[in-house]
Amino acid sequence: MFYTSTRDTSIKVSSSEAIAKGISAEGGLFVPEAIPLLAPGQIDGLCAMSYIERAKNILAMYLTDFSQQELDYCVNGAYAPGKFSSEKVAQLKKLNDKASVLELWRGPTCAFKDMALQLLPYLLTTAAGKTVKDKTVVILVATSGDTGKAALEGFKDVEKTKIMVFFPNDGVSPMQKLQMTTQEGENVAVCAINGNFDDAQSGVKAIFTDEKVLKKLEENGLMFSSANSINWGRLVPQIVYYISAYCEMINSGEIKNGDKINIAVPTGNFGNILAAYYAMRMGIPVNRLICASNANNVLTDFIETGIYDKNRKFYTTASPSMDILISSNLERLLFELCGRDDGKINEWMAALKSEGKYSVDAEILKKIKEVFVGGCCDDTLTAQTIGKVFKEENYLCDTHTAVGVRVYEEYADKTGDETKTVIASTANPYKFAKAVLSAVGGSECDDEFERLDILRQTTGEECPVQLSSLKTKSVRFSKCCEKDEMSNAVLSMLGIE
Ligand SMILES: *Cc1c(COP(=O)(O)O)cnc(C)c1O
Repeated sequence: MFYTSTRDTSIKVSSSEAIAKGISAEGGLFVPEAIPLLAPGQIDGLCAMSYIERAKNILAMYLTDFSQQELDYCVNGAYAPGKFSSEKVAQLKKLNDKASVLELWRGPTCAFKDMALQLLPYLLTTAAGKTVKDKTVVILVATSGDTGKAALEGFKDVEKTKIMVFFPNDGVSPMQKLQMTTQEGENVAVCAINGNFDDAQSGVKAIFTDEKVLKKLEENGLMFSSANSINWGRLVPQIVYYISAYCEMINSGEIKNGDKINIAVPTGNFGNILAAYYAMRMGIPVNRLICASNANNVLTDFIETGIYDKNRKFYTTASPSMDILISSNLERLLFELCGRDDGKINEWMAALKSEGKYSVDAEILKKIKEVFVGGCCDDTLTAQTIGKVFKEENYLCDTHTAVGVRVYEEYADKTGDETKTVIASTANPYKFAKAVLSAVGGSECDDEFERLDILRQTTGEECPVQLSSLKTKSVRFSKCCEKDEMSNAVLSMLGIE
């Protein structure tokens, strides 16, 4: 199978090249030339397998230039016993008769990003070994909080890689900030920026295509790649857990093979929900994909009207990993829905860049609405939902997951849809202790680590040790730069100013 670019369909590269490069040279995103289909009976086979075996099977359908041996090495390493706090890796838990949560945060950094970022370093170094042998890969990351830490943890001390993470100084939770600024490893760097996530993301994208910077890298035997969900190597591991969740629903008797499910996903960059879309296109029976946003509801409006308009107020919310107004991966969905017309994609993305706005044709909007439902909820409703779910279902969810639950419930109430629903649970509640504590009525407190104790006493939920142990780690990175200084910060970290 080959990969092409959403902005130039004359491009044809192997999966290794797509993963090693991260983003296509003209700014487009790599996508498979055709979405592979699950064979008749394949779901039955997958049902009998462990998560690791399911992952190998599904990845083999996309990464066709990886040998079976290479895939075994990558997947066995990423999901090795002990790395995730559930032997299922992605743990499905029943909330009530209709809804289950898919806990994707049982990895080393307590957010769903680990599901992909534990695997990506293996995929990327294997891919680079095939395509760009002698180069050191420099991973640049823009993060709204969780990707940064998960990428640092995945790439720390991985040979022939360096990683640099930019995060919005006032746009992440105290725990997220500490997780990043205390990061260990010889090949890592972390820098705050005066700006929001979109500034960080645009800055990183601009560096990827900056001729001057690229020339310097070239001269020094370095090349850039991305660990953001614009990299295909981030998306493909995420397809696995939706297919795996369908198998778990069958195995637990919730559904029969062939029954449709809904999948609700708290969304920011549109990566996680896009993976659910690919799972559906591969053959997982899906009734609705429910796209849940916080107060930054640009996607809710888009799904309603077909107009994508980022010219609006940016809110810093209690679910910071979704504080995004430019959802990069929507480009991949549009590419699939517009008949893979790179001309159209270029037109829309150029309009997004110059006017901050584009609108899709009625026909495409119709296709979107056949599958997707959009909804949003603000911080007040998010807090109410955390409180309600804890009281009624005895389940403690984080602020992002709560957005997913809330938007799902509103949809189910409005439509009466009884379809069994999987809600992506994307972070451990202790990552957002302040908001979660106040939502369950715990007493206020200024110290983050005291908060963890109070949250444990209030709810009886244990705090993951990788978070509580940050208390004794020292801060290694305290630099903050302006958004137009990011390329200098990169060159300085690489020592090639
Ligand atoms: C990144 C993140 C999201 C949003 O995922 P996208 O793939 O960007 O849509 C939601 N919740 C949490 C906790 C996250 O870290």
